[in-house]
Amino acid sequence: MTAPTKIALITGGSRGIGAATARVLAHQGYRICINYRDNLQAATVLQQELLAICEHVVIKQADVAQESEVVELFEYIDEHLGTITALVNNAGILKQQCRLQDLTAERINEVLLTNVTGSFLCAREAVKRMSTALGGQGGAIVNVSSAASYTGAPQEYVDYAASKGAMDSMTKGLSLEVAAEGIRVNSVRPGCIYTDMHADGGEAGRVDRLAPLIPMQRGGQPEEVANAIAWLLSDEASYATGTFIDLAGGR
Ligand code: NAP
Repeated sequence: MTAPTKIALITGGSRGIGAATARVLAHQGYRICINYRDNLQAATVLQQELLAICEHVVIKQADVAQESEVVELFEYIDEHLGTITALVNNAGILKQQCRLQDLTAERINEVLLTNVTGSFLCAREAVKRMSTALGGQGGAIVNVSSAASYTGAPQEYVDYAASKGAMDSMTKGLSLEVAAEGIRVNSVRPGCIYTDMHADGGEAGRVDRLAPLIPMQRGGQPEEVANAIAWLLSDEASYATGTFIDLAGGR
């Protein structure tokens, strides 16, 4: 009997942790959709790299904060790859470091819209296609949360931390909602990982500054997160749902 086709969407898959995850899944034989928001060049370069090891790799621009674009993204996957079996809710943003007293409603809403609403919308579209109660074949979802959900990210971005706290609640609630419908929902919570994201907070060297404070005395690499995501998606994690893997060097 041939194994069922594994089809993955990685939101924000063009750079950082998402790109590392795409590489791991490509080596594992998935068909892959790399979603991105702005940077077409990064997505294209990664697509070309992965096509050397994987026959089916598509890239699709969509802002996960926009409901209509999320719907289009999933329809694009239906058409070009087949029915999704794995969702990595990875797209996420943070803004300039500051204290809560300096946050504006506009900024808070922007962070929540991408990190929380975007993840909910993608999970919704995935569940519609995966749920055995709705005629689907099951699947797995991994939410990329953050250690910030339990540290709170004081003096940096409490809004971002709170968005990850919301994702953690979603992981738990959704995992229970669909546990008997063939869908597993889990989460990874990375600590300080070497990606471009820290520059968006105004401190490109943040990981090196914090490394001495991390029990393992170093920052993490995107691949160290990607491997955990791939494991949670895999059949090796077949009895795991509603769980969190902290990848934060002991924090
Ligand atoms: P990154 O290097 O900044 O990459 C972000 C990716 O997300 C890019 O592909 C970007 O697309 C995409 N993106 C951003 N907003 C989007 C939107 N609205 N719709 C669709 N795609 C969007 O980030 P990263 O560090 O790899 O972070 C990935 C995830 O890990 C995030 O959820 C983040 O919160 C989480 N995380 C990161 C760390 C860390 O230390 N790096 C720690 C804990 C958790 P473009 O290329 O088009 O801009």
